[in-house]
Amino acid sequence: MSRRDLPMAPQDFYAALNLRPELPKNAHDNSMTSCANWCWRLCYQEYILARRPASPGFGLQYGRAWHKMHEVLHKSGSMSAALDVADEIIPEAIDDKYGRSRSRIKEAFIAQINYFESLDKRFEVVCVEQAAEAHCPEGAECVYQWGGCNLQHGGKADRLVRYQNKLWLIDYKTSTRKDPSFADKMVMNPQFLGYAWIYSHLMGEKVWGTIVRRTISNKSNFEPEPYINVISDGQIKQWIRNQQELQVEIKRRFEQHAFDMGGWPTNPEGCWRYGKCEYFSVCTTPDEASRLKQLAAEFVEHRHDYYAL
Ligand code: SF4
Ligand SMILES: [Zn+2]
Repeated sequence: MSRRDLPMAPQDFYAALNLRPELPKNAHDNSMTSCANWCWRLCYQEYILARRPASPGFGLQYGRAWHKMHEVLHKSGSMSAALDVADEIIPEAIDDKYGRSRSRIKEAFIAQINYFESLDKRFEVVCVEQAAEAHCPEGAECVYQWGGCNLQHGGKADRLVRYQNKLWLIDYKTSTRKDPSFADKMVMNPQFLGYAWIYSHLMGEKVWGTIVRRTISNKSNFEPEPYINVISDGQIKQWIRNQQELQVEIKRRFEQHAFDMGGWPTNPEGCWRYGKCEYFSVCTTPDEASRLKQLAAEFVEHRHDYYAL
């Protein structure tokens, strides 16, 4: 292995910066495989080198608060306890260019609950924000395919509910703008298919699909936007094949490129997916030695363990 812009052997250069490439023990979990599916460089920096931004961007904090508010409302039944979560997570001073702020998230949350409350009362809640993992080895009895899926996968869905005697996933999303292609993007959404696969195996019956509770919230608009996606066996089978390939590819890349950032390609289309990617300044630095130094100096070590999330 030789890369011209590193001043010494790659292993030594990494060690000098205290960068320790490791394959997470849960390399089959949804966060990591979804990340790899999107951008190999992101997967390398976030999961293999395990470096994360010292303070998460406001978009991430906003999303985390939104999910926590739903969880607290479900567990405590108290709207004021749910709104208190916004005070804990969202800094008071922030009012970003999309109009997201501590008070705006509370208004959007109340609007969303009021809009969906009577509809959602029909659901019997099975579990909320619970990390789960399924393993369907070759030869196993399986709800999807004879002879088992030969796959292990884990993740944490927002909510699993029973409605009219069928299992459904609920997913809470926020967005700052309407997206005309949102429905198309959701059809083969690997996150939803992965959750459906996990909970179908654990429950011994198929999850029918995903009910998305999406709320558009910006300076001028609040708009709850319902969306339902019924998941077919064909989609799950396609997802299983993709997932098997992805898991093999993650391990192959790790074995061959643990000390070689260049072996994990960037995805320029991904850089602005949810606003600017937090690794943008690293990825746009031209030489690998400077990229690694920046990662070591400006990001903190955080090893992924989805059971601890
Ligand atoms: S900035 Fe772009 S290329 Fe770099 S990790 Fe993020 S999505 Fe990937
Ligand atoms: Zn199976």
